[in-house]
Amino acid sequence: MKPISIYIHIPFCKSKCLYCDFPSFANMEKTYDTYVQALVLEITSKACHYKDLEVQTVFIGGGTPTVLPSDCILKIMEALKVSYTIASDAEITIESNPGTIELEKLIDIRKSGINRISMGVQAWQDTLLKKIGRIHTQAEFVEGYHLARQAGFDNINLDLMFTLPTQTLEDWEETLENIIRLKPEHLSTYSLIIEEGTPFYNLYNENKIQLPDEILDREMYYKAKEILKQNGYIHYEISNFAKPGHESRHNIVYWKQKEYIGFGLGAHSYTGKTRFHNTYDMDKYLNPTRYDCVEDIEISDIYDEYAEYMFLGLRLIEGIFISDFKAKFSQDIYSVYGKELEECKKRLLLYENNGHVALTSLGLDVCNGVFEKFLIK
Ligand code: SF4
Repeated sequence: MKPISIYIHIPFCKSKCLYCDFPSFANMEKTYDTYVQALVLEITSKACHYKDLEVQTVFIGGGTPTVLPSDCILKIMEALKVSYTIASDAEITIESNPGTIELEKLIDIRKSGINRISMGVQAWQDTLLKKIGRIHTQAEFVEGYHLARQAGFDNINLDLMFTLPTQTLEDWEETLENIIRLKPEHLSTYSLIIEEGTPFYNLYNENKIQLPDEILDREMYYKAKEILKQNGYIHYEISNFAKPGHESRHNIVYWKQKEYIGFGLGAHSYTGKTRFHNTYDMDKYLNPTRYDCVEDIEISDIYDEYAEYMFLGLRLIEGIFISDFKAKFSQDIYSVYGKELEECKKRLLLYENNGHVALTSLGLDVCNGVFEKFLIK
């Protein structure tokens, strides 16, 4: 059977963080049941299109899926299990936030077959957590983490953020040191990006928040690489670190441009050369008479496919295997990108070794500029 991955979107949060532009809404508790009904309908009714596939990874993301009561999460898992062939060793992740998880719910979630939990921590210091609009404190996070362990989760990811307003290198170091004492299997570390349409965007433009400069941003990134390496984490993607064998299989599907299907509001799918996404309109999504909720089907242009393959694949520290490019596109990577690859190698942004091309340390620092080079076709 052909492998496939599934993404399920839960667009609810307890409240909105000040930097967040993800499609999620606060104060929608009354909609949870109706949303889960619509989601279950979508999951079960589309199963006939995916009969010959075996699900290798599932990611229940959001939003904050753990704001849903246990019975809603169990219904979603049940719908998946009855409708799709799920591999016995499938990686099944749920995103969560401290303040939305209690022991009983975590035990229910774990028993339903979900075997990986990803927690949004972001920072160790309560002052920083408050500044970015997180709902939890450091103590609540630590409690939630131990509850997840108690419920049987032996594969935990923690999300951290740096270059937060007023954050110092010492704050970041303190965050990393305390987090690694907890021994999570996986860490994602992203620098804050000010997105249009968020409260931070307005505050930033009105000079009401001060962000660390680019030099400090890089110092924080290097500090994360240094401390996490010393503590046995493998840096396997620009922003991701894992204990050996605990790399996120689901995210690797995206970075290697493999196929996935998305269910839920605004969820995206990629099946071979076709990309499509569901409606972002909640009323449309919830309408029980809707025939389908897919909007915007796009057959990718081959040059878009090449470019995306390059900039997603180069996010991985091991880079792109030349033979994989050939297997996917029946084209030699140098016949498509010879000039760009040679130029990047000459400028020490990329290197080639043992059949793969990857970013150098310098390339990692200016990765967006490198990715742009592959968009020129
Ligand atoms: S919890 Fe996550 S999805 Fe929800 S508002 Fe905060 S950052 Fe956005």
